Amino acid sequence: MKHVFVVALGVACLACGPVTAQELPVHVWIDKLQHYPAYGDRPGVPLPEELLTSVRQGFLDWARILLSLSEASTRTLVILHRSAEERQGKLLAGVGLFRFVERPEEADLTVEVLRRTPAGGEATDETVVGRYTRPRGAGQGRIQLVLEREGSVDEFALRTALMHEVGHALGLSHTPDEQCNLMAVQRTTCQTPVPTECNQGAAETRCIAVDAPALVHLRRALSRSPLRSGS
Ligand SMILES: [Zn+2]
Repeated sequence: MKHVFVVALGVACLACGPVTAQELPVHVWIDKLQHYPAYGDRPGVPLPEELLTSVRQGFLDWARILLSLSEASTRTLVILHRSAEERQGKLLAGVGLFRFVERPEEADLTVEVLRRTPAGGEATDETVVGRYTRPRGAGQGRIQLVLEREGSVDEFALRTALMHEVGHALGLSHTPDEQCNLMAVQRTTCQTPVPTECNQGAAETRCIAVDAPALVHLRRALSRSPLRSGS
């Protein structure tokens, strides 16, 4: 079943090339409503503040990945903490990879939160399902995060689902062979040795690995971007 999803995503991603220096920063619009497509025309309702914070945090996590990336290493391990670290947000917002915008028509990438599983979404064993699409011929990418149940949502599940889809938006494909890799379809447990604080089930941290070579071009592009030191 998962294999089918992978193939479907691969096709969808043929239209998404990696971000270039000219395209940085990526303008991101986050829909502040959550939607209920299963209920037809039922209007969206405001997204709870903690979910909005987690979505923003996922983008900041991506900025941090690129800052901590080592060109000398083929694999970089990043430890996520609960969003107490959002205090770093102002700092990280200045590195120029993403810029949040207020209107969808200004965005390169939009993010929506839904309360239903769309056809073609990626099924994982987490409670959040993500999907990235970029219609052929359209410049704007679209991330949909589908919350499988009502009520509280695990912050790490939301952040890592978002980060995985942002990885697709940045041109990354799936890494099938390593479970805690951000770009693996199933990424809740690590098979390879990791620091103690990465132990699965730790309430305050979650670890993810990224394959550095695929990202080095992005960091180089960032360093050339004239918008790097935004205020
Ligand atoms: Zn994927």
